[in-house]
Amino acid sequence: MIGLGANLGERLEQLRAAVRAMGRIGKIERLSRVYATEPVGPPQPPFLNAAALLVYDGTPEDLLDALLAIERGLGRERREKWGPRTIDLDILWIDGMALETERLVVPHPQLTARGFALRPLADVAPAATDPLSGNPYGRLPAAADPGVRPTTLDLSGAS
Ligand code: ATP
Ligand code: MG
Ligand code: MG
Repeated sequence: MIGLGANLGERLEQLRAAVRAMGRIGKIERLSRVYATEPVGPPQPPFLNAAALLVYDGTPEDLLDALLAIERGLGRERREKWGPRTIDLDILWIDGMALETERLVVPHPQLTARGFALRPLADVAPAATDPLSGNPYGRLPAAADPGVRPTTLDLSGAS
């Protein structure tokens, strides 16, 4: 499951471009709604967030590299932690898998605290559970965050 976020530039177009690019590295099985989200971290514009269920035929580390390359291709620059960005592509969850290396932690360490990740994830995989505890993500308090609002935008212009 890939979490997408954008809060600079043509946000919806960037999400769509990221979906198109992910469709070239794997198979996109499902897309979430697009959510409008209040930012966390330094003061910055609001985000659009979404999630995509991607079937990828490679290692998680390869997937991370492919996602970072897509981010670069869409003009992502890293200046400050949690700063504004044209696109952020995070690996939120991989069914049944937990791993921790220097470069990659799955499930994403902030997933259970972030409505902007949990809400789109629930659209795409409503039965998703934490691979270690077996707890369903949909029942977490953060999944009901009122600062994460569904929009009528959609990502289908992506294909
Ligand atoms: P956050 O991780 O809190 O959402 P961020 O997405 O803004 O912050 P980035 O600058 O996009 O952080 O990524 C920094 C590094 O995080 C990446 O280079 C990558 O090595 C590492 N990372 C660790 N776990 C993950 C993951 N599950 N998905 C994506 N990146 C990860
Ligand atoms: Mg992130
Ligand atoms: Mg990231």
